[in-house]
Amino acid sequence: MIPLPAPFSDSMRALLGDEAAPFFRALEAPYAAALRLNPFRPGAEEASLPFTDETVPWCPAGRYIRPDTRPGLSPLHAAGAYYIQEASAMAPAAALDAQPGELVLDLCAAPGGKSGQIAGALAGRGALIANEPDAARARLLAATMERLGVANALVTNAWPQELAARFPETFDAILVDAPCSGEGMFRREPDSRLEWREGSPAGCAARQAGILDQAALMLRPGGRLVYSTCTFNRAENEDTVSAFLDRHPDFAPEDFALPGVGESKEGCLRLWPHRVRGDGQFAARLRKAGSPAPAAPIRPGRIDRDIQARLAELKALAPGWEGHVETPRFLLRGDVLCALPGALPEFTGLKAPRCGLHLCRLGRGYIEPDHALAMALRPNEAARSAEFDEAQALRLLSGETAESAFKGWTLLTHRGMPLGWGKASGGVMKNHIPKGLRIHL
Ligand code: SAM
Repeated sequence: MIPLPAPFSDSMRALLGDEAAPFFRALEAPYAAALRLNPFRPGAEEASLPFTDETVPWCPAGRYIRPDTRPGLSPLHAAGAYYIQEASAMAPAAALDAQPGELVLDLCAAPGGKSGQIAGALAGRGALIANEPDAARARLLAATMERLGVANALVTNAWPQELAARFPETFDAILVDAPCSGEGMFRREPDSRLEWREGSPAGCAARQAGILDQAALMLRPGGRLVYSTCTFNRAENEDTVSAFLDRHPDFAPEDFALPGVGESKEGCLRLWPHRVRGDGQFAARLRKAGSPAPAAPIRPGRIDRDIQARLAELKALAPGWEGHVETPRFLLRGDVLCALPGALPEFTGLKAPRCGLHLCRLGRGYIEPDHALAMALRPNEAARSAEFDEAQALRLLSGETAESAFKGWTLLTHRGMPLGWGKASGGVMKNHIPKGLRIHL
């Protein structure tokens, strides 16, 4: 095993005292893999039983993964039944406790585990802006939202300053899951021990302060901010929070408790690998003073005639799509028609790899339903659907065609969960699952 960096070990001994020995033992023990069931997939729990073990105490949808099983290789993964996520990483979104109807910002969001969890808590109501400044990682985040069937999220690719200039005092709740020195990864990814430097915590803390200051500008009065890291040192955790509170007297820590972990102190809670079945995690919950201005009612916008005609065509293919976007506004991005939740603020000028629910591509005299639409639907919400067993589903995911007695666009499902679209004609179901998502058998 790669040794822990000596200055890290010294600082942990000073921080933990008598608990240092069990802590160091835990870092050398195998880690417990976990997944989070996707609430947008009824039936996911039962379908996932071959892989799942006990519930993660602080996340009702979290399950530890049985040893010697590989849920990532199942077609259920492609169908968005679950997101494979380290158990302690489920704590920050639990601390945020997003409520249906809220407008939430996840400021450092890729690859999207916590955004998926927040979207699940919103249950399709209100809206989420999931942001990631790194373009390649923002694309990964967009793909996560698509696979999980999230319809009310805007994925942006921006720096916090760009967002703060657009969204002053806008959000009910903000998660800052900050880039950090990653000491909590020392067990799961031992190579990360080689990347750590003695100056890493101080350097990261300076960056975290800058991100938090922008988040503060975007939170509405009375809103809540959760700051989290997966590192152990105080500089990036409690010290970063107390320095933030000194700079922002309009914020106060807000205590909270997580089942199986305990109660926070001065708004700060730690998950330690020797105390819980999970890696290291820190989360702090802070409340901004004041109360929100009364929200303006969201009114449906005018829809132009051409779009109305296209929506009628879409309704014939997927009559249930409308149930997934509240008070939709429509946006044409190139030839892709997107439905945005009415709760989403104006975002013109920002880079946004995903805008709400991508419905369909508009061709001359035809429409082609988008893969994202398939991933948001249930079988009874499409005009036609076809169910495939595990072996057939894997073949479809590898790009093969299937037989079909029907004609036209068909939602392909496995255990009632979507895989993508097929288009049947002449007895053959042509496969429209995007090439970039194909698996190799
Ligand atoms: N919340 C994510 C999840 O649950 O999947 C993990 C986020 S990871 C700990 C931190 C992310 O912050 C990285 O994707 C990184 O690219 C991004 N990041 C780096 N610098 C940033 C900055 N200045 N502002 C916002 N995000 C930043």
